[in-house]
Amino acid sequence: MKSILQEQKECWFCGKQFDLHLHHIYPGANRKVSDKNGFVVYLCAYHHNLGGNGNCVHQCKRMDIELRRACQKKFEETHSKRDFVKLIGRNYL
Ligand SMILES: [Zn+2]
Ligand SMILES: [Zn+2]
Repeated sequence: MKSILQEQKECWFCGKQFDLHLHHIYPGANRKVSDKNGFVVYLCAYHHNLGGNGNCVHQCKRMDIELRRACQKKFEETHSKRDFVKLIGRNYL
């Protein structure tokens, strides 16, 4: 699976290259769309879901939003905002 945000298989937050999980940046109803468009990112287990409250993307609103914004920004380098909203249903920027 190809991430639009990463060239390397490493944690997006800390650069760790092992113990990685593939995270869907826009989950739930948008999980399939995320798969299809490369809205996924590798995160180490700690930054994915083991770091606890405030330290991992699944338990930290700020980190979650940071990632959602970065991904939309990257997508909009090659697509329009309208394209993004059509896919994900909202605008994070
Ligand atoms: Zn990490
Ligand atoms: Zn995840």
